[in-house]
Amino acid sequence: MTNKFLEEIFKSFKLPLTEKRRRLITEAFVFAQKAHQGQKRKSGDDYIQHSLETAKILAEIGMGSKTIAAGLLHDVSEDTPIQLDEIEKKFGKEISTMVDGITKLGKIKLRGSREEYFLENLRKMFLAMASDIRVAIIKLADRLHNMKTLSYLSPEKQQRIAQETMDIYVPIANRLGIGGIKEQLEDLCFQYLDPDNWAYIKELREKHYKQGEKYISKAIKEIKNEFKKSGIEIKEIYGRAKSLYRLFLKLKKYEMDISRIYDLIAIRVIVVEVVNCYEALGIIHKKYRPLVGRIKDYISLPKPNGYQSIHTTIFGPEGKLMEVQIRTEKMHQEAEFGIAAHWLYSEKEKNKSFFKKYIYAGAKNKVPKEELRWVEQLRDWQKEIGRDDEEFIQGLKIDFFKKRIFAFTPMGDIIELPEEATPVDFAYSIHTEIGNKTIGAKVDGKIVPLDYQIKNGQMVEILVSKENKLPNRKWLNFVKTSTARAQIRKQTKKDNLL
Ligand code: MN
Repeated sequence: MTNKFLEEIFKSFKLPLTEKRRRLITEAFVFAQKAHQGQKRKSGDDYIQHSLETAKILAEIGMGSKTIAAGLLHDVSEDTPIQLDEIEKKFGKEISTMVDGITKLGKIKLRGSREEYFLENLRKMFLAMASDIRVAIIKLADRLHNMKTLSYLSPEKQQRIAQETMDIYVPIANRLGIGGIKEQLEDLCFQYLDPDNWAYIKELREKHYKQGEKYISKAIKEIKNEFKKSGIEIKEIYGRAKSLYRLFLKLKKYEMDISRIYDLIAIRVIVVEVVNCYEALGIIHKKYRPLVGRIKDYISLPKPNGYQSIHTTIFGPEGKLMEVQIRTEKMHQEAEFGIAAHWLYSEKEKNKSFFKKYIYAGAKNKVPKEELRWVEQLRDWQKEIGRDDEEFIQGLKIDFFKKRIFAFTPMGDIIELPEEATPVDFAYSIHTEIGNKTIGAKVDGKIVPLDYQIKNGQMVEILVSKENKLPNRKWLNFVKTSTARAQIRKQTKKDNLL
């Protein structure tokens, strides 16, 4: 069985395409095609086209053959008479569990107020993510294709789906670090939710892109030359245009004055090793004068979603200001594909150490420990307080939508926290015991009160009591993380019983 589009999926597949993998994907396609036989999308396409497009997005971000198979099958048990156990019999438990997870996510009841519905959606997403993160990734790919074909739906549906995508799927793509999908989703939502501004920005960008292009290509040529002289290899160098929605947000910050935006088009330099990034910065600064205060080293201090690169704004050819972004290939993959890049690396390099970091929640259910600890935390915390609690809403806003900061332990470990988090939050993020025993804290070497608000990049040292001790209930007045809150509650409740 051949299909032209299936061949494109194979072409996009980033892992070695073994016979076994090719067979699995082909079999999933044949099965899904038969199941969706005769069904049409609103666009007039055969339904299977949607499954194929979803699978192709998964292949492009580097997912493995099982995830791609589940992507092909993702609407089978929901929209056709085929039952889940048939999928399990043919494709095994791992794939059928993924399909089941996606089907469950699709069965969200549209009851109650928008906020209630929103939270219910989010809650289901967290639960699905905590049991198998691949379900969330398939759902993102599914949503991306649905957004691309949104024009075929009624205006009411367009609004509802675009809003839901902006509220739920964009933040999830962001937290999973899948920048490629996040930006595409944002731009599509922007188009439907704010069509006037979208059209305005689109035209504005095109106009300025045309003007900037010749300086950019000149700079690229000159940079290539400098690198050649230095003997450092450039993997790739190109100009990238800022996404429409990101450009709109930035323009709003600068009174809609586009002459103040220097990264409308940026030059992206991709090098081999981390050390080359710093060498590249030196080469570029030697050639072009940098703009003071605009050098950002996100390699030594990554953004909270894990993003790593060096950014600098330079006076390029003819004194034109432009941004240069320097990163390794690995950083680039991670910026575009986020969590998905880890699958790619662990399989490609036959390096199973990443998988060792997984928490085995079930036989095949994996959640990477460090990268997705926040998913685990949300799930645990939610179990403790119950879903309808008013605090759940508060906590979600704090834990999920608030900006994140990084703080360091004296050993240099990075602890991720929401903005305005305190030393008590920091202590509980390390360990419950440390949280309970906290008696004081130092930030960058100086004693601070326990309600001090930690800033990005600070080093925090927790002073602990040698004896066992219970947390102070008054801490509830200032802690910012749900983990700390839940633990303080739990521990002091025990205290009351004694
Ligand atoms: Mn679908």
